[in-house]
Amino acid sequence: MSDHPRYSIIAPIFNEEGNIVLLQQRITEVMTRTGESWELIMVNDGSTDRSPELIDRAIAGDPRLKAIHFARNFGHQIAVTAGIDHAAGDAVVLIDADLQDPPEVILDMIARWKEGFEVVYAVREQREGESWFKLFTAKLFYRMIYRITDVKIPLDTGDFRLMDRKVVDVLKSMREHNRFIRGMTSWVGFRQTGVKYIRKPRHSGETKYPLRKMVRFAWDAVTGFSFYPLQIMIYVALVLGVLALAAIPVVALLRLSLGMEFFGGQATTIILLLLLSSFQLFFLFVLGQYVARTYDEARGRPLYIVASRRNFQNAREENPSADAPRAPSQ
Ligand code: UDP
Ligand code: MG
Repeated sequence: MSDHPRYSIIAPIFNEEGNIVLLQQRITEVMTRTGESWELIMVNDGSTDRSPELIDRAIAGDPRLKAIHFARNFGHQIAVTAGIDHAAGDAVVLIDADLQDPPEVILDMIARWKEGFEVVYAVREQREGESWFKLFTAKLFYRMIYRITDVKIPLDTGDFRLMDRKVVDVLKSMREHNRFIRGMTSWVGFRQTGVKYIRKPRHSGETKYPLRKMVRFAWDAVTGFSFYPLQIMIYVALVLGVLALAAIPVVALLRLSLGMEFFGGQATTIILLLLLSSFQLFFLFVLGQYVARTYDEARGRPLYIVASRRNFQNAREENPSADAPRAPSQ
């Protein structure tokens, strides 16, 4: 038998006290059915509820169950990244801890992986028990990303997916701070396929993605995979320039024929000025989004800080550390 598990399951956890026990049970039950070796890595993303102690209790005595505790909340995508960095399996599965992604789907993914696919993503055929606002914004988000980004990221697909070791090793070398993992796995290439599933309502608790986080996430997706927002400025500039040039003879003719009062008022000037300033500020904001993210990368800080690890064999791993133990040199 090899010394590493065949499958690594990664579950990011931020204040999921009502889901941890059931998550561990359902994963154990499903993975036992494979008849192969596996590990479950729960990444505690700085939870402030009882999640940390519940995780440690759930994994006690079973070396297949592992935990990483972050020093603070770093966000869902970073938590998943830490799991990927620590995973030892030949195939790595990302799954939400709230049981919206039914663990049984992992078996379908494994079947496709064994057929030779290196990425098997789960496509949400239907979403149950989410507000119309969430459904609408999610639909809009996936379609917008699809249109403006350079990589073709499958529609209605979250992070619930299986990735082959080859893909995982490439992902591990991509140390960008503002991460959009589903985009990154599409970008990598290899043979990819989808399995359909019905997304369930949350088992317990409520969403950890308020509007603020969703907007930031959308910007990470856009700036990470597209320069389109920067490029549309040239079209706006051209249109406004042509309009301004065309206005010269038009205004001249109107004044000659209708008299000096025409277009004489301050109101038109003020309104146009405000409109154009608003355009400019908006594009400055867009530019700022890219600049800020560039600065974020330039600082080169670690992606996350681990406060402690549990059930990882390596003796040093119980110690606090920044970033991954096997992170490539920057
Ligand atoms: N999550 C996390 N850190 C965060 C926010 C969320 O680790 O800052 C985890 C959360 O515990 C869950 C997963 O990411 O396991 C997906 O979050 P959530 O279910 O709130 O998102 P939604 O399904 O509503 O889009
Ligand atoms: Mg959820």
